[in-house]
Amino acid sequence: MTIRLYNTATRQKDPLVTRTEGRVRMYHCGPTVYASAHIGNFRAFLLADLMRRFFEDQGFEVLQVMNITDVGHMTADDEDLGVDAIEAAAERERLDPYQIARKYEDEFKGFMAALHFRMPHHMPRATEHIAEMGAIIDTLLEHGYAYQVNGNVYFEIAKFPRYGALSGKVLDELEEGARVAVNTEKRDPRDFALWKTDAKHLMQWDAPFAGGMRGFPGWHIECSAMAMKYLGKSFDVHTGGEDNLFPHHECEVAQSEAATGEQFVRTWLHVKHLLVEGQKMSKSRGNFVTVADVFDRGYSGYELRYAIVKVQYRQTLNFTWSGLDDARASIKRVRQAWERVIRIAAGAAAAGADDIAAEVTAAGAAFTAALADDLNTSEALAAVFALVTAINKAQPDVGSAAAAAAALQRFEDVLAVFGEAPTADRPDAPPELLEKVRAREAARAARDFARADQLRDEVAAAGYRIVDSSAGPQLEPM
Ligand SMILES: [Zn+2]
Repeated sequence: MTIRLYNTATRQKDPLVTRTEGRVRMYHCGPTVYASAHIGNFRAFLLADLMRRFFEDQGFEVLQVMNITDVGHMTADDEDLGVDAIEAAAERERLDPYQIARKYEDEFKGFMAALHFRMPHHMPRATEHIAEMGAIIDTLLEHGYAYQVNGNVYFEIAKFPRYGALSGKVLDELEEGARVAVNTEKRDPRDFALWKTDAKHLMQWDAPFAGGMRGFPGWHIECSAMAMKYLGKSFDVHTGGEDNLFPHHECEVAQSEAATGEQFVRTWLHVKHLLVEGQKMSKSRGNFVTVADVFDRGYSGYELRYAIVKVQYRQTLNFTWSGLDDARASIKRVRQAWERVIRIAAGAAAAGADDIAAEVTAAGAAFTAALADDLNTSEALAAVFALVTAINKAQPDVGSAAAAAAALQRFEDVLAVFGEAPTADRPDAPPELLEKVRAREAARAARDFARADQLRDEVAAAGYRIVDSSAGPQLEPM
């Protein structure tokens, strides 16, 4: 099936045509590791994981890179104010900048595992790719796209007429924005830094390019260098949050394409910000919600994932705590139906005469079509629930129960929101009763039938019947 993705560069849903047939090469702007990532950051990272899973489901071989921004990183807002978030955090937490970066990188990877990510094939650190950044800066200086003043190197956007095309910003608008901060070194206020010198900066390197001074890289060059190292000069998909579009991605395009003369990226995807209880997350409102906050309130990685993934990535997602309760209830509903068909297929529950194969096929097709249409996860979940309803309404026969169980497993492989497959043994039977079932088996094996009957009666007193099936003894509520 043709996959269509909304491409920021063309402002339409383009069919995914990869440079190499059957392979997708993707780059995702990763975390800046000076504080705990919040759930808004994770909305963007979860899109990356969803794409990986869906593309693999569709038979693509995926090569996925997500960087770790561990160089003292300055956002566009504080670039000219000299605020360095990693150094500020280092001072606050009395650690050195590398300790801060490793601490939050480890935490981030822990959260990825807790949210059931397939780990990207490469997670390069910016601090370990200074040489690659230097090579690009060298080329840009050589070809006159960049200039050096007092050791600072700037990209000259007047030399790259397509600057602004990705984000759709018109030049006047850009000039207006840039006028706020005056930097007399720049030939044009819109020029951006590739390399900076500042004796006070804690993270410093000898210039990795010819004729330079000791300093540190600008933020944008990091992503170009790491993307091209692992994916080549030109690759298929680049994602980020909508706040990355300008200036970060615009600058990535300019410096990469100026250096290589080739199209950097075919398809750009940008994930919309989420709201928390109807409000934009911001430092001033103090309403940042981290993954740890969610776990502290007793919700699982699957539940958080569900609450985020249920809304398509370009739609507004309003994160609420009651939404996590809804997620829990929805997951439970799917698991109950899933468990039922697994039990029927395993012979642990009575099969009926209803053939629901057509419903299974329809749900699978609708699920695929939804995700192929710009990763429409809400529609994909609607397909899952259509199958759940079909299961609940019917007395499935063994064959179509097995097909339904396989379809639900596939949905889980792509979305990773429902959890591991239930077992034919009822997982909601109290563990002490399962223990009695095992003891009864042991008693029967030892031909102690009085003891076996006693255990059966104890289980019955708790409201369960022991049903012997081809999958072994099972508990069913009476
Ligand atoms: Zn980036």
